[in-house]
Amino acid sequence: MEFRLIDRIRERTAQGREDVRLGIGDDAALVAPPAGQELAIAIDTLVEGVHFPAGTDPADIGWKSLAVNLSDLASMGASPAWALLALTLPRQPAEHVQAFIDGFAEGFAQLAQPHRLALIGGDTTRGGLSVSVAVHGFVPPGEALTRAGARAGDVVLVTGTLGDAAAGLQLLQRGARVDEGDGRAAFLIERLNRPTPRLAAGLALRGRATACIDVSDGLLADLGHICEESSLGAEIEAPLLPRSPMLLGAFDERSARDLALAGGDDYELCFTVPPALVAEVQGDLARLGCGATRIGRMVEGYGVRVRDEQGHWLEATHRGWDHFA
Ligand code: ADP
Ligand code: MG
Repeated sequence: MEFRLIDRIRERTAQGREDVRLGIGDDAALVAPPAGQELAIAIDTLVEGVHFPAGTDPADIGWKSLAVNLSDLASMGASPAWALLALTLPRQPAEHVQAFIDGFAEGFAQLAQPHRLALIGGDTTRGGLSVSVAVHGFVPPGEALTRAGARAGDVVLVTGTLGDAAAGLQLLQRGARVDEGDGRAAFLIERLNRPTPRLAAGLALRGRATACIDVSDGLLADLGHICEESSLGAEIEAPLLPRSPMLLGAFDERSARDLALAGGDDYELCFTVPPALVAEVQGDLARLGCGATRIGRMVEGYGVRVRDEQGHWLEATHRGWDHFA
């Protein structure tokens, strides 16, 4: 069904790859995985009203639905190759559906093309607006970065800045427009709608990071997963959290701290590195443009603890973190 829609998607996302023997158009795609590599596979669904507000620009939805998946490959240290797309679209007049598809495909392609990612198939159905993307990438055997493997004494680092996307969402919910506030709102909303998957950083961390995760649910939650899987605890220094000037300009110090600790959707990488490798890793990630900030360390124990400016441990039940849950 929907051949014309599928053709529109195919035209707008065309990406030649030798290893795609048969792409969109048959009952299944055929691909030739490179010999001697492992496949890294991930899927994520974005539902309107849950993962993005109703009224989000279709191009932003296209970009983000791929970005969240590429971020999963980045955090594994994998390089992307192929994607599948399952689209559920509301019943609407044909021109609305076409406009949505054109915008969606444009945003998707803007991110797919620089990474040479080929869309090789999918499914299209009717229902509430929902987008599932599955991605496939390659990683040399045994070199994938996982959530397990951190050691006590390892340094905890994070790429980029934290809290921007959650700040952008709060601004949108307050009815902010992107042309407000000296470009601050525009920057923060862009960080929400157009996250940058840290693929090059993920590759650079292979063989050096002992554990890695992408920050989708918030630093506390996601670093908590590294703790669980590595059977350790983590101590974070709140004053070290990397925060953008735009976040600090739009929110008071304490809100900015809480957004950085508990806000989701940043898609930065949080990872652990033995102390002896920190300087060289920071140098490499600075050259890649995202940088990496040291925010704490792994310790024997359980769970994530956060120390404030005065050296006091913050309460795990601190109220500012609740409404991010
Ligand atoms: P079938 O009924 O055999 O599953 P479909 O009509 O669902 O076939 O799909 C026809 C072709 O179009 C398949 O190759 C499928 O992978 C592709 N396709 C369908 N929907 C999408 C989509 N949203 N994005 C990319 N490819 C799609
Ligand atoms: Mg089908």
